[in-house]
Amino acid sequence: MDFDLGWILLGLPVAFVLGWLASRLDLRQLRIENRRAPKAYFKGLNYLLNEQQDQAIDAFIEAVQKDPDTTELHFALGNLFRRRGEYQRAVRVHEHLLSRADLSAADRHRAQHDLALDFLKAGLLDRAEDALRKLEGTRYEAQALLALLAIYERSRDWPQATEIAQKLQDYGEGSFSGRMAHYLCEQAAARNAAGDSEGAAQLLARAITTAPQAPRPRIDRALMQLKADRPAEALHTLLELASVAPQAVPLIASALAQTGTAAGQAQQALAALQASYDSFASLDVLDAIVALEGAQGDRREQARQRYLQHLEREQSLVATARWLAGEKLEHEQFHPQVQRAIEHATRPLTRYRCAACGFEAKQHFWQCPGCQAWDSYPPRRVEEL
Ligand SMILES: [Zn+2]
Repeated sequence: MDFDLGWILLGLPVAFVLGWLASRLDLRQLRIENRRAPKAYFKGLNYLLNEQQDQAIDAFIEAVQKDPDTTELHFALGNLFRRRGEYQRAVRVHEHLLSRADLSAADRHRAQHDLALDFLKAGLLDRAEDALRKLEGTRYEAQALLALLAIYERSRDWPQATEIAQKLQDYGEGSFSGRMAHYLCEQAAARNAAGDSEGAAQLLARAITTAPQAPRPRIDRALMQLKADRPAEALHTLLELASVAPQAVPLIASALAQTGTAAGQAQQALAALQASYDSFASLDVLDAIVALEGAQGDRREQARQRYLQHLEREQSLVATARWLAGEKLEHEQFHPQVQRAIEHATRPLTRYRCAACGFEAKQHFWQCPGCQAWDSYPPRRVEEL
């Protein structure tokens, strides 16, 4: 390796001078900035440290008016206030940012988005709605649409929710047809409650077209038909459901048994239930089969036999309890206590559980009351999960 000491001897002083010049320049730059940085900063900082936040904001706002390069500071401040739950202050900071004429478009959108978050977190939904609507066409549009959807769902404004869901779908955020079918079902339920069964039926028909595989529209339609004392039509609807959404049969098993009996077509209902049970051994379906076969008198033994067969397929505590209910135990005087204890132990197993958040409920929900997710409850009991 050829190493020339002379170059280093010459290079060192040059590098030193260059470095010294650079540091002088930096220092001068810093001094200029220091002179420019208004006292308001330090005043604001001082107020902030003394927990006098209102005065601190005033000082920072004063600072920002004198120096347009402080937007980052304001965003940081606004987010800090929001995270601490001080929404009014966060709103003030973001509104001030928005009122500035020299703000770039990107920063304006960001401030608008942050302002919407402030209102959302503060629970001021109508103001949040306005702020979110203004984000259309910006890079926050998809986020804003999702937030708007949550607002309209919470306020049960189904037509608006439908409009937003449609936009999200067009935007490429996945399929919202299942949700839109739920919105139609909700509107149908409201019409029904108001006595407009014709309007409700039309909405349900639209829901079925919107999401042909969704179980709810047909279930709601069947319940309407049953209420209107048209069991044959209700049975037809439920059988149709069993073929398009077989996984939902456990949810309608008992309704299927009832309509079958009411329509005088118990055999048809029984066949559908049996077919479902053969592909998935649901206890709800088994209960419906037992109910259809009649669990009275000598049929009672047959029903118990069915639960026993079920136990061979599934390790089910609930089925055990059903079977035990008719069992003649040796110490018969203790039977009721034993039965009660088992029933108590099995009760949690017969609940439905939200797959998204784990919320458990005795009844099946289309929208989870815990986490607001749609269709998050599998149509199976906890024991069958
Ligand atoms: Zn949930």
